Amino acid sequence: SSVRTETASTPGVTCRNLVKRFPDGTVALDDVDIECPPGGITVLLGPSGCGKTTLLRCVAGLEQPTAGAVLIGGRDVTRVDAGLRGVAMVFQNHALYPDKTAGGNLAFPLKMAGVPKRERVRRVAATAELLHIDGLLERRPSQLSGGQRQRVGIGRALVREPDVLLMDEPFSSLDAELRVEMRAEFLALQRRLGMTTLYVTHDQIEALSLADQLVVLRDGRIEQCAGAEELFRRPATSFVATFLGGMNLLTGTHRDGRLSIPGRPDGLTLPPSLSAPDGVVTVGVRPEDLRPGPGRDDDLSLELTPVLTELLGRERLVHGTFGGLRVKVRLHADIAVGERLIVHASAADLHLFGFDGTRLQE
Ligand code: ATP
Repeated sequence: SSVRTETASTPGVTCRNLVKRFPDGTVALDDVDIECPPGGITVLLGPSGCGKTTLLRCVAGLEQPTAGAVLIGGRDVTRVDAGLRGVAMVFQNHALYPDKTAGGNLAFPLKMAGVPKRERVRRVAATAELLHIDGLLERRPSQLSGGQRQRVGIGRALVREPDVLLMDEPFSSLDAELRVEMRAEFLALQRRLGMTTLYVTHDQIEALSLADQLVVLRDGRIEQCAGAEELFRRPATSFVATFLGGMNLLTGTHRDGRLSIPGRPDGLTLPPSLSAPDGVVTVGVRPEDLRPGPGRDDDLSLELTPVLTELLGRERLVHGTFGGLRVKVRLHADIAVGERLIVHASAADLHLFGFDGTRLQE
């Protein structure tokens, strides 16, 4: 009873040198190149205003790019009407018709597309079964829970059997537990149906858990595009490193193995195996890669002043200061605020960025 049957010919999506300049001069997209693999999930991640929604709307055909092209399955669709692109979009606020039943909401896009009644009934039933809403088809949106409404919203996109599915923060209005559940369910569904998916979020956990390919946007430009694991392990810039996983950044002036840091006249001794150039550099270390104790010769050792601790569950997130810098550490032990805390990280867990924020290691 699958909604979509053939996946062999799933088209990919290409954004080629996309530029979007709004009439007021705002440049929302500035020369964006993305290759979304057929059948995979490409996640667009970035802070508010970086251009995620604009990019999705350009692919959907709801926005006309100022320059550049959108290709679906290799075909240039930049001038093709939204309705003829084989693309469906799921919005954050589900945007259901309040006066139609759930079933009516699912059937509506098919009616508009002129799908005959019998086929409509079949497809609505198959989609409802897929999303476990078959018992709710007679209800109006106001009689559904948030999660059920979002299922109807997703169903309304899937019922058209799109080649490409665009999702704009689809679960962000749901509570945390339901969000995690819906995300896992969506992933299973996407794997089963295999439509090429572009997924917008500003939630890094969601991004890491869904992405086959992860694109970090900043001010309308691509900061990095890679697999989720690669992006986490080897962030290309200090911006990516902090945005994904909250890496600590220790910026100072390096000379002869010592990093001088504002407010710490004694500076910081860098591990001998970390070959930093002279001048302004940033040493990055993740909160979970810092461990209690001074460490050994080739470790980075830091004496922090804890200012705040947060309970995360099994662990605590300790916010400390090192001179004028803020440093976060994930620890099992309870740490008293105000006491000194010595932590270390192995040289292999350190990331090095240049004065312009780009990664210096290979
Ligand atoms: P958020 O996470 O807050 O939804 P976003 O990454 O999706 O943000 P966009 O909505 O794509 O960002 O907006 C990108 C930039 O374009 C922002 O600076 C925004 O103010 C601007 N923008 C969006 N729509 C318009 C418009 N119609 N006219 C002018 N500027 C716009």
